[in-house]
Amino acid sequence: MSGKSEEVLIMSAEFVESTHGKRQLCYLGYRYSLKRKNQNGSEYWVCVKCNATATSDSDSSVVVCDDHTHLPDGTDMEILQIRKTLKRKVMEESGPLDRIVEEAYHAANRQSQSSDLIINLSSIHIMKNTLQKQRRKIRPPIPQSIEQLPYTLPDVYCKTTKSELFLLYDGSLGGTCSLVFASYNDIVYLSQ
Ligand SMILES: [Zn+2]
Repeated sequence: MSGKSEEVLIMSAEFVESTHGKRQLCYLGYRYSLKRKNQNGSEYWVCVKCNATATSDSDSSVVVCDDHTHLPDGTDMEILQIRKTLKRKVMEESGPLDRIVEEAYHAANRQSQSSDLIINLSSIHIMKNTLQKQRRKIRPPIPQSIEQLPYTLPDVYCKTTKSELFLLYDGSLGGTCSLVFASYNDIVYLSQ
């Protein structure tokens, strides 16, 4: 491990999501899977690479119980952090997935001095499929033609993310089935 990647080790307890959507604990460069939740609210964790265990308290303090048989890995965690941010952005923002992933990739490259990370980040591109699926759960796919739209348009197409009316007109224009979309703010803007 290079001295550079040691700088990115997260010193306090961080909780991230694994590739399979499981909650994991990151602490001092090691990643742990949840073994059990104790009755007093603390959680018992096992290292993903060896048998070392840790207990975390509700205040995020962590006690590591055994010695790890391997070195800590900062890059590993950095990737999980990027993955977490990406997932949130994909759900919250409506921009194209490719652009969101590209931006995250470039931001990470700018921030990180670790060359390991740049190589590993190619895995983020493979993540696009997973992100697309997650987005589909909360957002309908972009229709390729007007015929693909359901007949009575569901609210998700007719309102903005702030629940303002977005569909202005649904009917025939010059003999063609037409839909006109605009937010109130856009109309105000156009009228000025
Ligand atoms: Zn370990």
